[in-house]
Amino acid sequence: MKVFIAADMEGITGVVHRDQLMPGGQDYQSARLLMTQDVNAAIAGILSVHNDAEIVVGDGHGTMRNILIQELAAPATLVSGPAQPRNKPLLQLQGFDDSFDAAVMVGYHSMAGVEGGLLAHTYVGTTIKKLSIDGQECGEVTTNALLFGESEVPVVAVTGNSCLADEVSSNLHAKTQFYATKETQGPTCALCFHPTQTTARIQESVASGMQLLPSITPLHPTVNEICVEFYRREMALACEGLANASRTDTCTVVFSGDTFLSAFKAMWIGVSAANKQYPEWMS
Ligand SMILES: [Zn+2]
Repeated sequence: MKVFIAADMEGITGVVHRDQLMPGGQDYQSARLLMTQDVNAAIAGILSVHNDAEIVVGDGHGTMRNILIQELAAPATLVSGPAQPRNKPLLQLQGFDDSFDAAVMVGYHSMAGVEGGLLAHTYVGTTIKKLSIDGQECGEVTTNALLFGESEVPVVAVTGNSCLADEVSSNLHAKTQFYATKETQGPTCALCFHPTQTTARIQESVASGMQLLPSITPLHPTVNEICVEFYRREMALACEGLANASRTDTCTVVFSGDTFLSAFKAMWIGVSAANKQYPEWMS
């Protein structure tokens, strides 16, 4: 049994504000530990069902060097390092391939544009206004689930903010387990459950998902295209001339490929180009 854990930070226990999300923020160091604890709870859930599971954790937030490896539960391994396309063409899923049997997403958030969503965004908050696949608006959880699914790997459990529940129940398999670490109250406010509670519940939720695994089927992409509406025209223009990118209106670019995965790689190259100079967190 081989399991990939994709870990983000905005949906981690106790995380509600940008001061917790980036190096230099006064609460960043303690948030790193909270993130590692939520991931450890997921690892414990997997191991409670398959005690010999091979587990790879992808650190998928910001600098992508958040998880404290010295605190990470053994025997998991960790994909760590910045998000530049030359480093991480698969972004949050770097290190994943079709050798895995199941996937878990820990610490996730609602997509860009969700009214009142806690720290809501899609991949790059300053750049992507809307991401759509086959005409449907998707967040990171759905997009990642399609990437996993193209390799026939189902998502057994997702943890994160309560405002993510709709996306999970609408788009992922009906038996995919969802646990909210906090109740969203506003863009930077939540009723946060205590870490002792979230740790136990994440473990239970992931264990339930692992037990249901044979009946949780993967999502399958219906198109090999990802449509991105950028916030500004210059961002879409920066994608012109890139392979497998075509601008369809002022701020919109459609990325395509032979597979959904290759469309995703083209998208990440385009979104990175749209950022022009790499922001601090990508370098
Ligand atoms: Zn994210």
